[in-house]
Amino acid sequence: LDPTGENLSPQELDIEKKLRPLSFDDFTGQDQALENLQIFVQAANLRSEALDHTLFHGPPGLGKTTLAYILANELNVNIRVTSGPVLDKPGDLAGLLTNLDERDVLFIDEIHRLSPIVEEYLYSAMEDYKIDIMIESGPNARSVQINLNPFTLIGATTRSGLLTAPMRARFGISSRLQYYTTELLTTILQRSAGILNVPITMEAAIEIAGRSRGTPRIANALLRRIRDFAQIKGNGKIDIQIAKYGLEALHVDAFGLDEMDNKILLTIIEKFKGGPVGISTIATAVSESPETIEEVYEPFLIQQGFIMRTPRGREVTEAAYIHLGKLKGPTQDK
Ligand code: ADP
Repeated sequence: LDPTGENLSPQELDIEKKLRPLSFDDFTGQDQALENLQIFVQAANLRSEALDHTLFHGPPGLGKTTLAYILANELNVNIRVTSGPVLDKPGDLAGLLTNLDERDVLFIDEIHRLSPIVEEYLYSAMEDYKIDIMIESGPNARSVQINLNPFTLIGATTRSGLLTAPMRARFGISSRLQYYTTELLTTILQRSAGILNVPITMEAAIEIAGRSRGTPRIANALLRRIRDFAQIKGNGKIDIQIAKYGLEALHVDAFGLDEMDNKILLTIIEKFKGGPVGISTIATAVSESPETIEEVYEPFLIQQGFIMRTPRGREVTEAAYIHLGKLKGPTQDK
């Protein structure tokens, strides 16, 4: 189960699209961010202006792309979608920008991965809706400035720490998405089950929600897999028995922690006596980059109370020992 969604098959991508909420009303959670966004959109609509450039940051699978589509929808404009690693030449970006109608949305996923030249090129487009393009070649080559339609750039990043300061400064609106509670994920699962036409009991929805790592993408992926178990091993309905059976068969951790989460905890316990240990030391030990650990994995482990941040580094909590069976509970000692 991949929270990043990078390895989804075309069918899975299709289902993901089908499950995507299309309006503010349809979107569950992120109340604070949503309340503000609704006001900014209403104001922009009233003034017939483009919405300010908007940045969404936070771990994968929490709804950044979904919100970009919702914003375009609520602004009643078109959205063009691209991503940082795909845009490798200023020319590609110029092509996209010059094709935007007034107030349209350009969504750039993984915006921290733009190349420095493309990023710099984006600055004047964002700031005063102007870009320079080269015309002709050889001795006649020259650059001309062209005006763009006012547009909204929506950037998404899992790694806000990697955004350059000038880039960050050009976003008028910046919103950090939070992990979802079990209650919110239960609501999302019930909605998704409705769309997929699969009956699910409340108890089963709560069980799956609690094991979804606070992430709608994971909740939806689990739902699809468990639907298969319900069809083949049950009567088509997802009840608590089928949910538990499926979760077990899928090796989903009781807290929804994934392999890397558990590897991080185990490493701190086994190699560093539970900590405190610095983030880069942990990163080296688990072969991941310190930024990814800090921005993708650690926030959930902290939120769930498995890791603490101390001035001397990261420490695992007793809950982590118990979770990994590294410390016998008092009742098991007998
Ligand atoms: P991100 O861009 O942050 O990685 P996405 O916006 O692609 O995440 O969301 C991943 C999946 O989770 C999508 O299928 C989307 O429908 C679902 N999803 C995300 N947030 C919500 C939400 N608040 N309510 C319902 N479904 C959601």
